[in-house]
Amino acid sequence: MPDNSLWEGHRIFLPELREKVLKRCRDCRFFVKIRGREEERWGCVAGVPGYGTLRVRVPETVPAVEILKKAGKDGLFGALSRGDPEAGACGLYRGRQENWKAKENVFHK
Ligand code: SF4
Repeated sequence: MPDNSLWEGHRIFLPELREKVLKRCRDCRFFVKIRGREEERWGCVAGVPGYGTLRVRVPETVPAVEILKKAGKDGLFGALSRGDPEAGACGLYRGRQENWKAKENVFHK
């Protein structure tokens, strides 16, 4: 079925799942620069209280001290351990563009 968009080779993907499978962490809104005293490293703040639920806007750069306050040492190490921009997206993936689309929909209701 070459014209069927649900088929990817011999596998079947639901459209929203296909998006997550093809995306990388670098495209995710939770993927941010974490700024320490001497260096900046990439990391994922999806597990940090506030950011993960999107109650707080996720900035492009987050101070490491802020993550330490909100999630402790384990939270900071967890965030830094998911710092590979080429890693495949996980189930918590939220695209940066998706958020703008979602906001536009909210504003146009
Ligand atoms: S895809 Fe998952 S692991 Fe990667 S940055 Fe987003 S939430 Fe974190």
